[in-house]
Amino acid sequence: MEGRLAAGRETAARHEGLRAQEAALAEVPLEGLAAGAQRRSEEGPLGYSDALVRELLAWFKRDFFTWADGAWCADCGLEAKAPLGGRAPSAEERRHLAARVEAFRCEACGRECRFPRYNCPIQLLRTRRGRCGEFANCFCLILRALGHEARWCLDFTDHVWCEFWSGDQGRWVHLDPCEDCWDEPHLYEKGWGKKLTYVLGFSRLGVQDVTRRYTERWGEVQGRRALCSEAALAEALRASTAAIRRTHEPATAALWDGRDAEERAALLAPPPSPQATATASGEPLPGRQSGSVEWRAARKELGGEKREGADGGKQGGEGAREGGGEGGGAGASAKPPGEMSQHQRLQDTQEAFKRLLQDEFKRLTVDPEMQKDPNKAAALALQNVQRKIQKEKKDF
Ligand SMILES: [Zn+2]
Repeated sequence: MEGRLAAGRETAARHEGLRAQEAALAEVPLEGLAAGAQRRSEEGPLGYSDALVRELLAWFKRDFFTWADGAWCADCGLEAKAPLGGRAPSAEERRHLAARVEAFRCEACGRECRFPRYNCPIQLLRTRRGRCGEFANCFCLILRALGHEARWCLDFTDHVWCEFWSGDQGRWVHLDPCEDCWDEPHLYEKGWGKKLTYVLGFSRLGVQDVTRRYTERWGEVQGRRALCSEAALAEALRASTAAIRRTHEPATAALWDGRDAEERAALLAPPPSPQATATASGEPLPGRQSGSVEWRAARKELGGEKREGADGGKQGGEGAREGGGEGGGAGASAKPPGEMSQHQRLQDTQEAFKRLLQDEFKRLTVDPEMQKDPNKAAALALQNVQRKIQKEKKDF
């Protein structure tokens, strides 16, 4: 755990370099994205600032960064895909922070080609290829270059994505740059069928355990969290964040202490109903889209049992995708209207619960003693609100 915390802090720190941010800014076609954002904000629910990030995310996946199954063969202009195993990084590769190198044979010319897994975000602006690690690292840098607060989110079950602070919405929003996925935190558990354990968000402002945003099965997830005690993890994150906050202006530190506390309270709110498997737009959450179908199948990230091999093996990727879409879509639209309103009522109740919890948390943290331990305050707020609801039920 300590090693992962240190690595996450280092990754987030690399997004703060002025030279790196300037290099990133030079790559972003702001004028085109701004025009797209203007249209998007006029036509849809997003504010302009959010719409601009939405455009940026789409551009990054569509036009800027490329998914890498193998290594690039510069001689043939093709991707070398026959795996040959790991190689030690060269001095030059190490200079750009490649901790490891994957080797592949080019089927066209027979040459051994190298895929250095660079961790230097400036180098990634040049190579523009990689897997989720490279996507998230580079996209975080671009978000920071545009002045957004950004988190590099490390999922311990082998995935990485980003979050950014939406001023429009006053909350952190999930972004997956290699999937071009906006604000669908349950994508991994429900779409990909992941068994999550820890998801930590690293930024220039600190480290937050954001796992609960990404699961509706906290009980199960908790059972898999065996790396250290929950108290030890909370203390490590608190200490790490406090050390980072001391490097900021007191007003900035205080602002983010408050926002962290509110976020913790919101994350403690009960998850939405298990029936609510669809996204906000009513579409079912898909399996993984990035990477070859064989690779995704080996990782068991193609999605639920229904979707796996739904159309036979022949049309692999497309089959997995369309099979999922049609199956779930039909299910969602076939829902009787009564059930929908029941779902709506449940959502309203959850919203009300969240508001109660946030109010109670704010009330408790007026006390300076409580401010020192936001986790304790959040837990106490949850307890108080649950008691209040129980009491009201009895009175009723
Ligand atoms: Zn070649």
